[in-house]
Amino acid sequence: MQEIKITRAATLKEKPEASALVFGKYMTDHMFIVDYDEGQGWHDARIVPYGPLQIDPAAKVLHYGEEIFEGMKAYRTADGSIQLFRPDCNIQRLNDSADRLCMPNIPYELALAGIVELVKLEQDWVPYEKDTSLYIRPFMIGIDPALGVHSSHHVQYIVIVCPVGAYYPEGLNPVKIYIEDEDVRAVKGGTGMAKTGGNYAASLRAGNRAEKRGYSQVLWLDGIHRKYIEEVGAMNVMFKVNGKILTPDLNGSVLPGITRRSCIQLLKDWGYEVEERRISAEELFEAAKNGTLEEGWGTGTAAVISPIGELAEGDEKVTINGGKIGPVTQRLYDELTGIQWGRQPDPHGWVVKII
Ligand SMILES: *Cc1c(COP(=O)(O)O)cnc(C)c1O
Repeated sequence: MQEIKITRAATLKEKPEASALVFGKYMTDHMFIVDYDEGQGWHDARIVPYGPLQIDPAAKVLHYGEEIFEGMKAYRTADGSIQLFRPDCNIQRLNDSADRLCMPNIPYELALAGIVELVKLEQDWVPYEKDTSLYIRPFMIGIDPALGVHSSHHVQYIVIVCPVGAYYPEGLNPVKIYIEDEDVRAVKGGTGMAKTGGNYAASLRAGNRAEKRGYSQVLWLDGIHRKYIEEVGAMNVMFKVNGKILTPDLNGSVLPGITRRSCIQLLKDWGYEVEERRISAEELFEAAKNGTLEEGWGTGTAAVISPIGELAEGDEKVTINGGKIGPVTQRLYDELTGIQWGRQPDPHGWVVKII
């Protein structure tokens, strides 16, 4: 594999207190960049001081949204070492997203080296306090400087990292979810299964509306029937109904979350039946009315597990588990975070120690 050239920052930033960590706000001193040119392949892997990118104002990413990204974390364990959680899954998904957006695949070793070498260089930025971590944002952009609508011949893969605190500083309090019946996030045949910025752009309006109504997240419905649930905010979603775990199947417009996949594995290990299938909002309201809607939660790297305490659609509202976190939700949170921070055994070999 090619060598990574390191240029160190002349001055280092002051690191924020763990209590002041706002998600995604404090970037570290360096970033990783590697270029791809058609014909030449990936070249000039480098770590450079963190700072603004210089790209042409006509670069395709700025006009046509040719962008994909990943989200993962580096966790500090009790003995001071640093580890990643299933990085192979993130890199595979990055390349799956690249296929959908007609961007080149990046070799596994190069994508991982960019992450690992940057985290090693920035290791003092990986915080020690409970529930804190170093958030890692790898992304790929198409930067051909021309306004024609084509896939780019020149792309960059970049990795930036930032320390983050507990996603919910007051603890795991259930959130209120509003079922969005107007906008859709993604539609089968579109880019819903790719982790790409455009899906987020499409989601902003509904997110703002839900917030104005006093809800913290949107529950997205499918774009065709406007009936079946897909995701909650930017998380996958699961419900426990009458003892069984239900989660939407990966139908093409649902993002294949790594936390989702890990939860399904743990739930099966514990003997739960997990059904991946179409679930209508109506089915959930029915279950709530007949007392079988036992728990609900979102899954994603940033928050890990996010309990759902209330579901609303129009004027209809139901409370789940009395608005309190349920036992399976809590167990998933404890088990996953236990594995990630190295407090618990890792029977599936998900954790990769890097320092
Ligand atoms: C990233 C993401 C998720 C969660 O994926 P994880 O791999 O679990 O972090 C879910 N939905 C959307 C839309 C996402 O972008």
